Amino acid sequence: MAQSDPRRAVPRTDVLMGHPDLVAAVARHGAATVKEAVRSAQSLARSGEIAPDDVLTAARAMLPSRSTTLRPLLNATGVVVHTNIGRAPLSDAAVDAVVAAAAYLDVEYDTATGARARRGRGTLEALRAAVPAAGDALVVNNGAAALVLATTALAAGREVLVSRGEMVEIGDGFRLPDLIASTGARLREVGTTNRTRLADYADALGPETGCILKVHPSNFRVEGFTSAASVRELATLGAPLVVDIGSGLLHRDDLLPDEPDATTALTDGATIVTASGDKLLGGPQAGLVLGEAATVERLRRHPLARALRVDKLTLAALEATLRGPVPPVTDYLHVDRDRLRARTERLATAVSGEVVAVEGRVGGGGAPGLPLPGWAVALPEECAERLRRGQPGVVARVERGRCLVDLRCVPPARDTDVERAILAVRAVLDVRGVDRPSGD
Ligand SMILES: *Cc1c(COP(=O)(O)O)cnc(C)c1O
Repeated sequence: MAQSDPRRAVPRTDVLMGHPDLVAAVARHGAATVKEAVRSAQSLARSGEIAPDDVLTAARAMLPSRSTTLRPLLNATGVVVHTNIGRAPLSDAAVDAVVAAAAYLDVEYDTATGARARRGRGTLEALRAAVPAAGDALVVNNGAAALVLATTALAAGREVLVSRGEMVEIGDGFRLPDLIASTGARLREVGTTNRTRLADYADALGPETGCILKVHPSNFRVEGFTSAASVRELATLGAPLVVDIGSGLLHRDDLLPDEPDATTALTDGATIVTASGDKLLGGPQAGLVLGEAATVERLRRHPLARALRVDKLTLAALEATLRGPVPPVTDYLHVDRDRLRARTERLATAVSGEVVAVEGRVGGGGAPGLPLPGWAVALPEECAERLRRGQPGVVARVERGRCLVDLRCVPPARDTDVERAILAVRAVLDVRGVDRPSGD
């Protein structure tokens, strides 16, 4: 082979891997990822697409910018708890707690005695302090796990009484009846889709009853000729009463009048309340179990509890959410409308968009149909895809042929990032002659 063959000049893998930049990259991304970038860069040089001298630069450019393929996104949809983009964003306090919990820590260890201690006791104390109506608390992996644990421990091999109007699908094809059936309990439906009375439960109650389950139909509403038995009524029947409130509100929120909360359900007589940690509570993915101490203990002792237990990162984030500052989800729900309007107007002016009135949503199976009035910047529909794919990705809402950028769920400090992202997209689209939105 001739000495001038550029392939001969391509730097060797071991030489490249010894370069300080790539040594640092190995510490950050792992050797396999860095080697893959090096090999790709070498093959570009071998095929003559880049000069041999540029292999190092090309390899560096091919390294991922972070160590996960998960891409952070800005939520400009106006949907506060958006399951597809990670439900609840954590507060800074919760993020700090997660980082601290990444190391060794006393998650189930007593530093005074050197003996084993109750796992996540600080988190459970925080939960009990936040909901004094609960005799005890337990945290599992998610809301579905909390429900499965409760029905398994109370009703495996026996019956769970549920209203036909509450046989819900919780999303992505997962249906409540299937979930309960998987626990070995038999589902006994009572009432009809639109009306279920206390007497319907009373008629079905018997020695086979393991528990009564009341599920908040959080992602839909039945309107018109409807009735349902209340928690207070169901509690009079004497069977263990499990109430799945779904969204994780611990106390009533006047903004969400139809959303059940744990404290009210417990004071109304629920034996156990189950809920998600990453919906309206605004914390990490988790399943909360709150209720009567002896029943919570029964759940804790069930063998399944071990398979559903949460990890230390979750315990840390949940404790910080409960004890710390108001989480972003709460801020976004209760956003100051004048301030939101001012931010929206500023953005509209900067990007030559138009301010339009919109309705945000709670989302994540919470308060279906409840509008959250606000504003958005309307852009041509074509902007939406480019915004999503940008850096950072901005997820806007597409509605009636327009791309709507709603700042409700964007941290105010990131408004300028949204602005820059839109300007970059507009610069490309304006060159291509895409129309500005018409003034409607
Ligand atoms: C969301 C929801 C669930 C499931 O909770 P995950 O935390 O998503 O597992 C169960 N029941 C109700 C009523 C819900 O709203």
